Amino acid sequence: MKILLAGGAGYIGSHTALSLLNSGHEVVVVDNYDNSSPESIKRVEQLTGRSVTLYEDDVKDKVRMLKIMQKEQPDCVIHFAGLKAVGESVQQPVRYYRNNIDTTLTLLECMAETGCKEIVFSSSATVYGAENSSPCHEGMPRGICTNPYGWTKSMMEQILQDASVADKELSVVLLRYFNPIGAHESGRIGEDPQGIPNNLMPYVSQVAVGKREKLTIFGDDYDTPDGTCLRDYIHVMDLAEGHVKAVEFCAHHHGTEIINLGTGQPYSVLDIVNTFQQVNDVKVAYEIGPRRAGDLPAVYSDVHKAERVLGWRAKRTLADMCRDSWNWQKNNPNGYKK
Ligand code: NAD
Ligand code: UDP
Repeated sequence: MKILLAGGAGYIGSHTALSLLNSGHEVVVVDNYDNSSPESIKRVEQLTGRSVTLYEDDVKDKVRMLKIMQKEQPDCVIHFAGLKAVGESVQQPVRYYRNNIDTTLTLLECMAETGCKEIVFSSSATVYGAENSSPCHEGMPRGICTNPYGWTKSMMEQILQDASVADKELSVVLLRYFNPIGAHESGRIGEDPQGIPNNLMPYVSQVAVGKREKLTIFGDDYDTPDGTCLRDYIHVMDLAEGHVKAVEFCAHHHGTEIINLGTGQPYSVLDIVNTFQQVNDVKVAYEIGPRRAGDLPAVYSDVHKAERVLGWRAKRTLADMCRDSWNWQKNNPNGYKK
């Protein structure tokens, strides 16, 4: 199949491109490098020995997207193209709504005009909100989101669902990611956050490599076994392989399917820090700080639907995730910049 990856030069997109190519699919990437660089795709090509058709374009630009879709005629679109920093979305809500919603609408319009009927969407566990207690399963209603980023995901899910009700030939898969971490085992591609990382694993890695002085753990007084928050961390290569299954499923299906991609196994912030130190034999200095506004004590997935519908389950362990994150960080202390 030929798959168009909107936002495919980013962290999850580049790993998915690699898995798709290794599974024999053709890959077209459209990215404006708002939060990435073409270097990730260059490395994917080196790792797979296959070429990727790459367009530097804004997915919101309908004239360009239509030309690209008409020329490439993809069988399926994977929509990764979004802004994703929670704190920034609170400061710049309009930019987040404009970018995330507009990319989705443009893709749907271009798909309708070119006859493409399959779309896989990068959603997030954040749409479960605070009302639903873990393990989160796909039958639960979406909850109240705590920030504009989360609302864009919730709204985009609704838009895609509505589109599939109106067009009975449309096949939509909404993948709700839990906490993707890790990197390809080669250490050649990985997560390359700009500025101070918002997420736990890049922060831990940057402390270990000496770029940051210490990690602040956001609260140790939660009602959890060690007092720190529980999350469902998933290796980005497991996530990438889940996308390959989702794309293949999409081809034989109509309507909308919501599918969690997680491991179902919660780990605490201290589990991450301790495993990272043990597996990699490095020190991660940390202090306990106050809680971060909006954090929930425990968020993890029910994984049965992914197993049943996609025949997929995550295989890699927390030790694998910590080892591969460190392998990427120590070999690329400045990310994709030389
Ligand atoms: P990322 O920032 O590394 O990748 C997103 C890519 O989209 C970037 O390459 C960026 O340049 C591109 N992009 C953004 N707006 C664009 C536009 N208008 N036109 C063209 N390209 C554009 O993020 P990621 O971690 O790879 O996440 C991919 C998707 O998965 C995002 O939609 C994100 O919200 C979602 N998601 C991520 C996580 C996570 O923890 N990483 C969790 C849940 C959901
Ligand atoms: N966290 C932390 N210090 C940091 C970043 C994150 O203690 O510098 C904690 C955070 O409170 C949460 C967990 O690590 O419990 C995962 O946070 P992340 O931002 O990576 O993901 P999300 O909040 O989306 O689950």
